[in-house]
Amino acid sequence: MTRAGNGAFAYAPASPAADVVEVQRQKALIKAGALQKAILESANFSSIATDERGVIQLFNVGAERMLGYQAGDVINRITPADISDPAEVVARAQALSIELATPITPGFEALVFKASRGIEDVYELTYIRKDGSRLPAIVSVTALQDAADAIIGYLLIGTDNTARKLVEAERSRLDQVLKRSLRELENAKVAAEQANLAKSDFLSSMSHELRSPLNAILGFAQLMETGAPSPTPGQKDSIDQILQAGWYLLELINEILDLALIESGRLSLSPEPMSLAEVLGDCQAMIEPQAQKSGIRVGFPDFEDPWLVKADRTRVKQVLINLLSNAIKYNRVGGRVDVRCAAVAPGRVRVSFQDTGEGLSENKLAQLFQPFNRLGQEGGAQEGTGIGLVVSKRLVELMGGAIGAESTVGVGSLFWVELASTAALQPVAAAAGVSPAAPAPAPADTPQRSLLYVEDNPANLMLVERLLARRSDLRMLSARDGRSGIELARLHQPDVILMDINLPGINGLTALRILTEDGRTAGIPVIALSANAMPRDIERGLQAGFFRYLTKPIKVAEFMVTLDAALVHAAGAADGAARQPEVVQP
Ligand code: MN
Repeated sequence: MTRAGNGAFAYAPASPAADVVEVQRQKALIKAGALQKAILESANFSSIATDERGVIQLFNVGAERMLGYQAGDVINRITPADISDPAEVVARAQALSIELATPITPGFEALVFKASRGIEDVYELTYIRKDGSRLPAIVSVTALQDAADAIIGYLLIGTDNTARKLVEAERSRLDQVLKRSLRELENAKVAAEQANLAKSDFLSSMSHELRSPLNAILGFAQLMETGAPSPTPGQKDSIDQILQAGWYLLELINEILDLALIESGRLSLSPEPMSLAEVLGDCQAMIEPQAQKSGIRVGFPDFEDPWLVKADRTRVKQVLINLLSNAIKYNRVGGRVDVRCAAVAPGRVRVSFQDTGEGLSENKLAQLFQPFNRLGQEGGAQEGTGIGLVVSKRLVELMGGAIGAESTVGVGSLFWVELASTAALQPVAAAAGVSPAAPAPAPADTPQRSLLYVEDNPANLMLVERLLARRSDLRMLSARDGRSGIELARLHQPDVILMDINLPGINGLTALRILTEDGRTAGIPVIALSANAMPRDIERGLQAGFFRYLTKPIKVAEFMVTLDAALVHAAGAADGAARQPEVVQP
């Protein structure tokens, strides 16, 4: 079809030959002619042939049908570029100019330039119909050459591309919808994260607000419990009730905060090789009073294996205490708890606690580990919120372990924790806890020393004042805000400073910085005593240079021990024997 003589699709004249051959040739020609006619008259694609300048010479039935022009409207009048989207023609000219590094005029040249260079060219082009509507087409362009290979015209065959364009448009619409949905999802995620942060901040400040009154309740109750004259047995019972409820409330606040930290992804764990046997030993000591009080026998095995696991020691202890405490709490009178350690699979250690309680139905087992679900114990005698197990589960899972329970109604329940075992045990520094031993009374001839307490809350001030009234060796000064605290410190050079963090004006951290930057007060140990009790608060406080960081509510024994340590430190510093300040978690 590309070889054309004068005008499009003309054939070379027949040469004289044998009749038979001539007849066959004629037949072939007729057949070819019929085919050509069929193609030209096909309504399914447009055939537009032009002369070498682009002026339309042939406009087939398909072109007429698809474009709405009659052949007579266009032949010898216009070029295909005149019935194409002008913007596309311009864009094509620009693209080709760049691609072929030669200037190409936006017009018919742009449509046929490649074909004129013998390059096969098929591209998308939008024709503009006579009625102005658009027809997306795929156009195949061929140069028509004479016998001497000179270009005598071009043939543009177009097929209707509407369906594909529709599919493409639909796909791009779906793409947009998908992108929008993803964007909305991303926004929702950001909003949820912000809400989580806000929740976590809210809980952290709520914790502070709850701890402050609790400090007064527990502090004064401890003061009365240990005061002189000793309380009567009736008073002692009342004080015990206050203390028990208070410490429980504190535990509750801590659990809720733990849960909030975990849920907001802000809990940090420090996994290290640790001995489960050793931690269980600590747990045994901690749980013994509760067990004795409830008349439950807790059987700890004699561990021959240290049962080394890689986990966060503090958090493992928290989980094990929680399970032990539950096993004692939800047991029967005179019941027992059996503690076991065993390797359940290669590289996995299981600690289990078997109790002799009522046991749990399958339904109740399935509801374990849900927050605030007390499995119908709401009206029961035992206090608890059901948060403990939820926190335990999250903690164990964060450490790569598993937690679970099995139970038989009427026989008891078995709660277990599995952790990854480890081979190497790094030398672990001795736990730097403070012993709750009562401070030794000061010898009569001890010179009186002074303590400055910077605190804005009157109840806290009064509490510490009463506690210190028991120490004849100590005189207390007080300031209600940071600025006056610094003034007093400069003026009186106290041996020890006790500093609240949330203070009017400058806060305790700023006050500490000013004190340590001032040569007159730099050597005085400053103990933080704050209701900001989140781990990061404590960490920040110790980094800032507090001698110790105590959290409210005050634990009287711990408070006295810390005070003594600070006094010893102050004496050492005064002797010129400068010692490194201890950085110890309270
Ligand atoms: Mn305060």
